[in-house]
Amino acid sequence: MKTIKEDLNDFIGNFPSKTFADGICRLIGAFGNVGIIETKDGLLVFDLAIKQYHRRIFKALREFSDKQIKYIIYSHGHFDHCFGYTSIFEEIKENGWEMPQVIAHENVLKRFEKYRMLDKYHAWLNKNQFASIGAKKNPPVSAQETLNPTIIIHGNENYNLKFGGFTFELYHDKGETDDSLWMYFREKKVLFTGDLVINPSFPNVGNPNKVQRYPKQWALAMEKMLGKNSDFILPGHGRLIEGKENVKEALLIRAEVMHFVHDEVVKRLNEGKWFEEIFHEMVEIYPDRFKNHNMLRPSYGCYRFAIHAVYRLYHGWYNTGNPTDLFPAKSEDIAKELLKINNETKYLERAKKLFSIDKLQLALHLLDVIIKGCNIKKIEILIEAYTLKSTILSQKAKGEPSFIAKNSIRNGIEHIETKIKELKRLI
Ligand SMILES: [Zn+2]
Repeated sequence: MKTIKEDLNDFIGNFPSKTFADGICRLIGAFGNVGIIETKDGLLVFDLAIKQYHRRIFKALREFSDKQIKYIIYSHGHFDHCFGYTSIFEEIKENGWEMPQVIAHENVLKRFEKYRMLDKYHAWLNKNQFASIGAKKNPPVSAQETLNPTIIIHGNENYNLKFGGFTFELYHDKGETDDSLWMYFREKKVLFTGDLVINPSFPNVGNPNKVQRYPKQWALAMEKMLGKNSDFILPGHGRLIEGKENVKEALLIRAEVMHFVHDEVVKRLNEGKWFEEIFHEMVEIYPDRFKNHNMLRPSYGCYRFAIHAVYRLYHGWYNTGNPTDLFPAKSEDIAKELLKINNETKYLERAKKLFSIDKLQLALHLLDVIIKGCNIKKIEILIEAYTLKSTILSQKAKGEPSFIAKNSIRNGIEHIETKIKELKRLI
């Protein structure tokens, strides 16, 4: 079993490029993966990965083949799949070559439009989600820099691209996004999945920072891919999956887990249960065969997030069924009232006790009462509460396998550390 760090390295493409399928396909890891196919008539490129890695992509591409790029296909419109084109363009310009055709699903254009509308918000959001890999200093991409498709796939239409003596089948399915295209290279039996397969992570279906995703359709996409009886998967992130059995297992286990989480949440919704009950029950019943599966490691997406995804797909924002929560008071005001009943010292003592018996989450809830409700005059106890919260969060971050969850926790720690410094200056 790989370590959390090794999983992260695979996710961000820190591994050597790999040539496969009789020497005509190449996988280049560049945060997102780039797939290259060499034909007698030129190159087909599946995804362009991330802007910052454009030189790495170009170098690995030109080590592999000196032919012109004729087609670029986007698996979806995320910033880590469509933006690493700078060096490629420079070469096209220098040589006076024709621009390649760019193929994508119509929803990619809608996504780019949305990115332009929410440019600053996404820059902020991605800085936080990818904080641990330098995104705070070097934001992932600006939405103004899109390379738009020239051939657009509409709705659920299938598209067969005949190129260089080969057939490339393109299919639209929803999963991580609503603009996915996956490709089957018929003659060499290679699936190019985009983020419908991230190797080896659990599907990124319930990302806490992102818009709604599609668990049931994800399962159906996996089943459609299974029908191809393929020899390789070039995933959206991570290393090549090779061999019929491994390919089958990678698709089957993802289909099964997506059906499972979807159907079990739906069952509980039909039983009239609210989110808290559903979530904790779902955590209890998560089967070991998924939990311990080598191809479903919670290194990026994870099961706990997936529960949210299904619930949110079918439910509004009123999550508890408790009318108190329909128009709640400010949490600071609630905390102040609680501190009138039992003072900060009592809360801190109890939080320390909970910390000592490893009830970290409960300790955090109590510390938040102090942090939110404490009078600034009690600055020393406030600093103590912040410090303990930071210690607990550090412990949680250390053991947290999900890259997304870990970054969210670390962002919280960073905020707390700034707050502690500010408070210490006031003493
Ligand atoms: Zn991706």
